Amino acid sequence: MSVRSIVRHADWLMSPETAPEAPAIVFEMECTTCGESSEAAEDFETARTWAFVHVGRHPSHTGFREIIHRFWRAKLLE
Ligand SMILES: [Zn+2]
Repeated sequence: MSVRSIVRHADWLMSPETAPEAPAIVFEMECTTCGESSEAAEDFETARTWAFVHVGRHPSHTGFREIIHRFWRAKLLE
């Protein structure tokens, strides 16, 4: 049995997503002690508020990781 592959050279352009329904940036905060995280939100204050509530409930969980999602689009150049 043989397997054949076709690989073609192509040039791609990567650029920020411009679709109107795509948010520019989405924020999350993740606790570095327990791994729990906020929901993803377009407003950073939503993620930061989650972190304040989390540390209030778990005073020893003082470290957080900010996770930023940016959306990109690949376009095949001809
Ligand atoms: Zn935690």
